[in-house]
Amino acid sequence: MTLSTWPLPRSLVLKIQTIIDEYGLSMSSTFIPTTETTSKKKTDLLGLTLPELQQWLVERGEAPFRARQIYQWLFQRLVTDFSAMTNLSHSLREKLAEEASIGLMIVRSEQHSKDDRTRKILLQLEDGKLIESVLMLYPPLGENSARATVCVSTQAGCAYGCTFCATGQMGFDRHLSAGEIVAQALYFARELRAVPWAAQGLPGSAPIGHITNIVLMGMGEPLHNYDNTLRALRILNSPDGFNLGARHMTVSTVGLVPAIRKLSQEQLQVNLAISLHAPTDELRSKTMPVNRKYPIEDLLAACQDYITATRRQVTFEYVLLAGVNDTPAYAHKLGELLAPLKQFAHVNCIPVNATSADYRPPGGEAIRAFRDILLQHGVSNTVRAERGDDIAAACGQLRTRFVERGKRQTPATQA
Ligand code: SAH
Ligand code: SF4
Repeated sequence: MTLSTWPLPRSLVLKIQTIIDEYGLSMSSTFIPTTETTSKKKTDLLGLTLPELQQWLVERGEAPFRARQIYQWLFQRLVTDFSAMTNLSHSLREKLAEEASIGLMIVRSEQHSKDDRTRKILLQLEDGKLIESVLMLYPPLGENSARATVCVSTQAGCAYGCTFCATGQMGFDRHLSAGEIVAQALYFARELRAVPWAAQGLPGSAPIGHITNIVLMGMGEPLHNYDNTLRALRILNSPDGFNLGARHMTVSTVGLVPAIRKLSQEQLQVNLAISLHAPTDELRSKTMPVNRKYPIEDLLAACQDYITATRRQVTFEYVLLAGVNDTPAYAHKLGELLAPLKQFAHVNCIPVNATSADYRPPGGEAIRAFRDILLQHGVSNTVRAERGDDIAAACGQLRTRFVERGKRQTPATQA
């Protein structure tokens, strides 16, 4: 790939191009330096709720109503620079530039799949940690309009070590702040605002210029980073700001029972997805070590309580691992396990994305048979279409690739 029309000096473009070539970032990947990191600690405004921003301004002798104006610039106009906030005084804009930031991260690479329905970014956080986010674009289908779903990370790495998961194999680095979670969604929102995505070959479908859904299915375990995750969801949900409906957001969890119970008490209508991936404790404990702490019986009891408290459906994710958890016998066990939850349970079958671990996805025939058996038990299910394989879209894979290349070559941070 080549860098196209960036308004950058030629020498910088050449340097960036060299890095892209060195790291083998293929297809339409771009390398975009954004905010430079600084030594002075600034307040990341993307991580503040509206009342907190009001408070922050009052502490600096400013009128609280400015907060709403700033919120609109940040989350509706999607600006990245305080100088663009033209209804604020010069002195306030200068103060903001000195003491605050709008997301401190550097985009190390951006890759687009060949069909441009999947885009993936590798972000470098202020302390050098690397995380990934993915944008998935879905054309309109039947009565459903087009969707632009961002898959965001909530941690750098993950502590839970699921054997099929690239992130799980990295180990845990740290929690992301609320601002770091929010910034990922805003990055893609800006991109779509600048160039709306048009579903090719579908006459009559309107280009999509905004984010319609957010799923917390990137790197990390959202409920392990409970407070920052909830704060990020509330910020993105704020009608004064990004204004994305809670029903358009999904929290996916490995199954942290106490946190699921806590979530059921929050007044937030987000969707809950449980990574189940096996219907017996014996098998689940092999692929998901967390099962030894929170076995299936406890997990399903928490899900039942969640359903009782919220009257909302729970999605059970089931990564299909050929020859491991995809047999008809396991399909029957899964059906028996979830049938008591009735219409409140839905299974999402996900053929595994290849990682360095030795798992393969089952063939189409085996997937169909598995799904049919679930239906025999009255358990509704869908299969997740594989996305962006040509850019390693499963969580953690791009980072793994990038870091491993980096070990053999010049470290990326010296770019
Ligand atoms: N930690 C949370 C959310 C991040 S993982 C969780 O585990 O739910 C998001 C989803 O991707 C989970 O369902 C996870 O099991 C799944 N996943 C992990 N590795 C995968 C792989 N190699 N192929 C397909 N899905 C994978
Ligand atoms: Fe962590 Fe989720 Fe991956 Fe398991 S599947 S290791 S919980 S990110």
